[in-house]
Formats: sequence, structure tokens, C-alpha cells
Amino acid sequence: MAARVEPVTNGLPVVAIVGRPNVGKSTLFNRIVRAHRAIVDDAPGVTRDRVFAPASYDDHPFLCIDTGGFTAETPKDPAAIETQVRAQALAAVEDADCIICVLDGHAGLAPADHETVRLLRRSNKPVLFAVNKIDHVVRDAQVNEFYAAGVDKLYPVSATHGRGMDDLMEAVIAALPVTPPVAPEDAGTRLALMGRPNVGKSSLLNRLVGSERTLVAPHAGTTRDAIDTPVRINGQPYVLIDTAGIRRRSRVENALERHGAVRALGTLTRTDIVLMVLDATDGMTDQDARLVGKALEAGRGIVLLANKWDAVDKDVRDPRKFKRHLFEQHPAFANLPIVFVSAETGEGLEGLVGAIRQVERSYRVAMGTPALNRVLRSAVTAHAPPSPGGRPIRFLYATQTGTAPPEVTVFSSVPAKVPPAYTKFLVARFVEAFKVSGVPLRVKLRNRREGEAARPPIPARDTAARARRSSRPRSAGGRAPRR
Ligand code: GDP
Ligand code: GDP
Repeated sequence: MAARVEPVTNGLPVVAIVGRPNVGKSTLFNRIVRAHRAIVDDAPGVTRDRVFAPASYDDHPFLCIDTGGFTAETPKDPAAIETQVRAQALAAVEDADCIICVLDGHAGLAPADHETVRLLRRSNKPVLFAVNKIDHVVRDAQVNEFYAAGVDKLYPVSATHGRGMDDLMEAVIAALPVTPPVAPEDAGTRLALMGRPNVGKSSLLNRLVGSERTLVAPHAGTTRDAIDTPVRINGQPYVLIDTAGIRRRSRVENALERHGAVRALGTLTRTDIVLMVLDATDGMTDQDARLVGKALEAGRGIVLLANKWDAVDKDVRDPRKFKRHLFEQHPAFANLPIVFVSAETGEGLEGLVGAIRQVERSYRVAMGTPALNRVLRSAVTAHAPPSPGGRPIRFLYATQTGTAPPEVTVFSSVPAKVPPAYTKFLVARFVEAFKVSGVPLRVKLRNRREGEAARPPIPARDTAARARRSSRPRSAGGRAPRR
């Protein structure tokens, strides 16, 4: 068969949203990705943080990027804004398969829009121009003025109300490269093999599902080209995600190099447990550590795979020494299970199944309130909290407020004064008590007042305190759901 050049379809296609500050990029992003979990790319060199999330329209999955990010300040100087928008647009052109350029229908055509349009049109990527904030019946004049920027089609939308979204999204989907199928979210725990190039991901994938001597059984009908591969491990359903990206690596080396960071972050948003592949002959490199850190930040479960164990010198081939060295260098990773494997010989892979099970259990652990409070009480007794200004910090109660990954909220008299080291101590006690491993257990501190909503009503005589309470601005929870 003749060699055939194929479009880059490793992982999901990428749709980037660009535009000036305040045009409604983030509102549009939130509407497009809905409840999907987002992750922030704060890599150095990126002008503003970029927020990613998986999304789909009409069964077509893609990865959406909000180039506006949500932490960076908008500069006051208009020239600086222009530079920023320009850099953003260029970065988007680089990373995306399709670009949505958002224009502000309220503010009207801005001088900077001409430049942005010119810049985007010069790229060979499909660009869709959306005039946002058209909340009511389309007023032609409001939209048409944007044709002056040299655009031939405009999509009037309202990101807040959802108007015009179908037309826009149909055009987006039509502009994207055809992608292989993605497994539905509910098909099982989602696992992703991640790691630097050449650590052995594709060899492991082949060892796991691709060859005759397979450890896990691919579902009937699974094609090699699927982005995600549904598998059964000891009868349990799982989904290995982004397998196409790994398999096609050799054919898309350059594109992957370019998209590497974006795709890796995209994978994190779609996965439950990261199977982080290390080259055991190198140990954990800085790049490995950075990716593990990102996965923990994203709240994902992690199993470390020290691959190429067969190639490690006999005299240093000691799992305990390897572990000790790794965890001494990276104490934050000490809670992550590690399995020693060889994709080459197949050794150690049975251990992977147990490690996945263990992390899965931790990822979805249910921590009963009475048990949590017993742990909290014994922690406080064993190690008294500090007393800033002579007044001891009191911890009232703890309750689980999240799962996958687990989150515990601890109500305290003065949460702001609890030193990070003490919070870490509490985290360690919960981790120990509930045997959580390979998963970041998050502890949130809340003021006791915020917890009182669920408690018995405040006695009527305490009206002064109640008035103080209700007039206080809410700090948390008031932010737009951008992640
Ligand atoms: P970004 O800086 O481009 O990410 O813009 P945001 O998404 O933060 O939106 C900026 C402001 O425009 C916010 O106050 C939004 O509520 C408002 N906004 C966004 N989309 C719409 C819309 O469709 N209609 C109206 N009326 N306001 C919108
Ligand atoms: P990827 O880029 O992470 O997908 O890495 P590959 O699976 O392509 O492997 C890169 C190289 O490492 C190839 O030459 C493999 O043969 C080799 N390799 C992978 N796994 C092992 C292993 O367990 N032991 C040894 N000795 N070599 C391996």
C-alpha cells in the first residue's frame, strides 16, 4: 500500500477562543464546555493562563481552550492589551485546529479588531467570527458593522443566553478534522498512559492491549484508531484514553512536539488515573516531576510505572532503593504507588492491576462524617493547633464535600489563621486513616459560620450577629465557574 499522509488526529481536535478582554470569551467557553472539568496551563512563556476543557457538540468531541485565562490581570494600557491579544491569537493559531474569534456586539468594532482579523486570516486555520452579546433579536446594524473588518461571515451569538450557539457550533464541527471515536464518559474508570517521549508508552500500550499476549482484553469492535480504547481488566471495564495519540506518535512527531503541552493538559482533563511512565534508567527527571505535579494539581489519581526495569544495571536493580531515592527527592510524591515494569519482557505488569485498583478505591473513597470527626479529634489531641494572639484555633467538625478526587471540608473558628503546615498535618492524618494512596486528598478550611447553614437555626436573640453575618460579602463562591 502506498504511503499516505494523514491529518493530525492524535488526541482531540483543538478549538481555541480568542478576542479582546471582556468580549465574553470565558462566558462562551463555559457555555461550550458546560460541566466538563477544566485545567489551567500556566506554563512559562504563555502570555496569559490558558484554560482547557473537553467538550462536544452533536457527538463530536473536541478540546476547548479559553486563551483569556482567568487569573491574569488585564493591563490598563491599551497598547499592552493589543500586544497581549496579538500574542494570544498567535498562540491559538499555533495550537488550534479551529479558532473562534469573539467580537463585542455591545462595544462595537474596535480598532484592535482590524489587526486581529488580519492576523487570524493570514493563518491557514479555519476562523469563525462570533459577534457576542446579541442577547435579543438580531439588530442588523449591531452585527453588520463588523464586516468592515474584512470578515465574510459573522455569527451573532449571546454567550449568556445561548442564542445563535447552534449555528456557531455546527460551523465549528464542520471546520474540524474528522476524529476517531471517543468512549463515552460512563464506560469505566479512565486511564491515561503519560510520560516523556521514548519512556516506553507505546510499547506498554502494545503490551497491554495490542499484542496477542495481552493482559487486558480489548472490547469487541475496538479499532486501533479509536482515541480511547475500552478494555476489561480482570472483568472490570476501563477506558484507556488518548491511545491513538500514542500509537500514531511516529507519524506525527512534529505536530506532537508542537501540540505536546496542550494535548497533555487535555488528556489530564479527561482522565481519572494517570499511568505515569518513567524510564527507570533515568529515574525521575524534572520534566517527569512537572507532569506529575500537574496531574496532582488537576486532582487526578496517579500510578508511577518505572519502565525499562530490565535495562537497569543489576547492582542497582533494587526497588526499595529506587523508591527511597525518588521519594527523598520528591517528598510530595511519597504517597504515589510505584510499579516496576518492563514493556520489553512483560515483567511486573500484574502489579499494575493491583495498583490501579488501589488508586481507584482512593479516588472514590467515601469517608463517613463520624469517622472523619474521630480522626480530626485525635489529630487535634495529638498535636494541638497553634494559638495566634493567644487564642487557640478551634476545629469544629469535618465532612466530606467531594469525591473523585476526595475533598474534606474542615470547619474552624479562624480558617485564615491555620498555618499551611497544620493543614498538611491534617491531610496526612486523613490520608493515613482512610488509606488513601495515589490521589491528592484535598482539605478545605471553612469558617464555622459558613457551615451553620446546615445546622440548627441561630437563636432569635442573636440578631446583631446575624445582621453582621448577612451584610458580609461572600468571598468564596462568588466567582464565575471558570474551571
Ligand atoms: P472575557 O474577558 O473575554 O473572558 O469576557 P467574560 O466572559 O469575562 O465576559 C465579560 C463581560 O461580558 C461579563 O460581564 C459577562 O457577563 C459579559 N457577557 C459575556 N457574554 C455576554 C452576552 O452574551 N451578553 C451580555 N449581555 N453580556 C455578556
Ligand atoms: P514512547 O515514545 O513513550 O511511546 O516510547 P516507545 O514505546 O516508542 O519506546 C521507546 C524505546 O524504548 C523503544 O526503542 C523501545 O523498544 C524501548 N523500550 C520500551 N520499553 C522498554 C523496556 O521495558 N525495556 C527496554 N529495554 N526497552 C524498552
